[in-house]
Amino acid sequence: MEIKELLLEYSIYLNERKEQENKKVIAFMSHDNFPEELLDAAGIIPLRMIFAGSDELMSASNDYLPASTCSFAQTCIGLHSLKPTEYKFLNLIDHFIVSNHCVSDICASEIITKYFNIPRLNFYVPYTQNSEALKYYKTELIELKKELEMIIGREIKNEDIIKSIKKYNQFKKKLSEVQELKISSTEKLKIFQKAVLYGPFFMNELENLINKARSENIRINENNFDLIFTGCSMFIGDYLINLIEESRGNVIFFDTWIGYNYYSQIFTDKKKKKRRQKH
Ligand code: SF4
Repeated sequence: MEIKELLLEYSIYLNERKEQENKKVIAFMSHDNFPEELLDAAGIIPLRMIFAGSDELMSASNDYLPASTCSFAQTCIGLHSLKPTEYKFLNLIDHFIVSNHCVSDICASEIITKYFNIPRLNFYVPYTQNSEALKYYKTELIELKKELEMIIGREIKNEDIIKSIKKYNQFKKKLSEVQELKISSTEKLKIFQKAVLYGPFFMNELENLINKARSENIRINENNFDLIFTGCSMFIGDYLINLIEESRGNVIFFDTWIGYNYYSQIFTDKKKKKRRQKH
């Protein structure tokens, strides 16, 4: 699917869900530490900013941040500043999360909320893993939950959160199967990008794509070089994957937010685990 087509389809999807189901849309810069299950439990659509930029988009951000800022952060600002035709759906965002993954993330998110008049929600995560950090993370989750409840005007029930966690777990388990498919890196990346954009709404299409790829048993050129791609993600519209394939590279493992870091974040049911350990 071409990028324009994907963005148009996504725009229609968002418009329909907002109009017909009266859904709110909350956007955030896509790193791997935001609990989108909580948004889902609140009946809110999470919109991950996973769009790659052009020189024009990046230059448009230079009124706000220096050009040495990472290209992803520049693009996120440029998209809100210029709102190119195929990204008009960004007008549907009701709130934007400001989080602290890195300095570029926090600066860009603050700028987007301040200068493009999108109400801001804060969600800060600790950089360490110890009992104090865990307590802090829980406090942030509880505060975010309260803010979401104010937005939707009702309580977010625990059973709804558990339902959403199970739904995302199931979706991510299915998505992890894509890694093993005998399809090109480009095809894999397209599936990962669409999955991260739509979330579990993409489940049926995902199952069909996986079944189709398995039944066709496509063979990848064995003279290609197998690669592990790690670091920042390749976002929608990034042509790096084409350069890799044109150079006979074949990405066998996407170790990024759009790939392993996304689908490996599956929550275990501690009570069930304890019960199993007792037996
Ligand atoms: S983590 Fe990397 S890509 Fe993301 S905003 Fe920070 S510098 Fe940019």
